[in-house]
Amino acid sequence: MAATEDTRLRCPACGYNLTGLNQASCPECGQRFLITARKPPRPPLTALHWTLLIIFIAVGLVLVGFPLLLWINGTGR
Ligand SMILES: [Zn+2]
Repeated sequence: MAATEDTRLRCPACGYNLTGLNQASCPECGQRFLITARKPPRPPLTALHWTLLIIFIAVGLVLVGFPLLLWINGTGR
């Protein structure tokens, strides 16, 4: 498989292959256009991400903390 896949994205003015291009203008003829196949920028952390992160940390704390609590209680006699 080729490193750069041909997405058939061509300049409407001159037909230049625009695959992998991140700018909204043709480097060949300077024609400006909208790149519809462009990947959106990485979104910032949302509330859902934070919730999942907190749940992940909480589960980790329980998995580590609960045996530790049993161990402390067991050796505290
Ligand atoms: Zn062009």
